[in-house]
Amino acid sequence: MRLGLVSIILIALLTVVGIYVYQNYAAGLYYLAGRYDRMMNPYGIDPEAPTPTAGDTSFHRSMFIADLHADTLKWERDLLHRSFYGHVDVPRLAEGNVALQVFTIVTKSPLNFPWSSCVSARSPDKNTPLLFMQGRPMFDLRTRAFYQIERFKDAVERSREPDSPIELRLISSVDDLQQLVADRMQGMQVIGGILGIEGGHWVGGPEASEADVRADMEELFDAGVRQFAPTHRFDNNLSGSNEGCTRYGLTEHGRIALQHAEELGMVVDLAHISQQGLRDAIALLEQPFNISHTGIRHNCDPPCTPDRNLSDDDIRLIVNNGGIIGVGYWPQAIGPSVWRIADVMQHIMDIAAAEDLPHPSHHVALGSDYDGSVTPLIEVGHLDVLTAITRRRDQPFHPEVTRDIFGRNVCRLFATVLPGGDPDFANELCAQLQHAPAAPVPD
Ligand SMILES: [Zn+2]
Repeated sequence: MRLGLVSIILIALLTVVGIYVYQNYAAGLYYLAGRYDRMMNPYGIDPEAPTPTAGDTSFHRSMFIADLHADTLKWERDLLHRSFYGHVDVPRLAEGNVALQVFTIVTKSPLNFPWSSCVSARSPDKNTPLLFMQGRPMFDLRTRAFYQIERFKDAVERSREPDSPIELRLISSVDDLQQLVADRMQGMQVIGGILGIEGGHWVGGPEASEADVRADMEELFDAGVRQFAPTHRFDNNLSGSNEGCTRYGLTEHGRIALQHAEELGMVVDLAHISQQGLRDAIALLEQPFNISHTGIRHNCDPPCTPDRNLSDDDIRLIVNNGGIIGVGYWPQAIGPSVWRIADVMQHIMDIAAAEDLPHPSHHVALGSDYDGSVTPLIEVGHLDVLTAITRRRDQPFHPEVTRDIFGRNVCRLFATVLPGGDPDFANELCAQLQHAPAAPVPD
């Protein structure tokens, strides 16, 4: 009894001291969160990167460009304002002529201990102290996700005000996508944003019923989420992860979640999933899907890390089942040279061609992982460097291949799967992108 009272007094005292410290040092903590962001999201430089010619840049500006993965919402930056650190914001996306960006939500990042060969959900979570420093909600993973969704929607709202030079628009249906394509073709300064989740950690589990799993998926859908990756870097209730400690396949709740995602009109993202999970999911899915950000194991020389990347067998399975692979720009995915990004793309297309697929270039996309605590070798504002690489490599890409990879495939994917979509309409809508006029350069 006395011990209970002492505990209560101690907790009350600690709470008061905690609130005092937080209130007086919140500005300092916020500053530290910014320093951490700056440290975790630098750009890498490859001195061998080409300088784009006027021809490269003009071709680049004639494309409808889409990227499948950026973790920008995790960081405390205003999407509408140019930041001098981190990777992505609306002004820099406009500079790179990006028309459509998937903003993926990360809620938990357990520490990866150097002595451990796997990432455990029980390891201390690096996101918790970051969220504390940012002053964001931190106790519940679902709340963490919805906070990021609200921040995105707030930026969308503010971008509609008359003094905002570029509009940021939430894309949640095929009608929205069609309008975005039409507005961009007219030269309007508008960028589409699709909300994605990287790890549905709170969905499913021993306490949850099948109806609960469906309800959680519907809640995400209603909030505007249109790309769903069941796993991130550790095994969860839906599936094992390719860096997890057990790496099991899709669970029963995972199957229900992915099937319901497709029924609702969300694109399934199989990045980070275990080998068995990849196979289970592909056998289950009826719609095209993506691997939003990855590298490949073929010619994966250090600092490239094979574990996180796709084997040739994985690639074969994905392309034969209507999947699209988003190629990343960071050295652990592609290796030390920026030219490797195009080599990775070519390797995927070579596998698709060897499988006799009619359109090998239909299976590759951009999957930058900007702001994902990586060091990409291409800056979003200078994406024309990547266009230059596709034109200047030993075997240059045909311009139509580049247009497919840089945006048309992502357009087709979302125009097929989002509510109101179908494959014929997707082909019709995205074929127009061949003739997209150059977007004006913003002031
Ligand atoms: Zn990721």
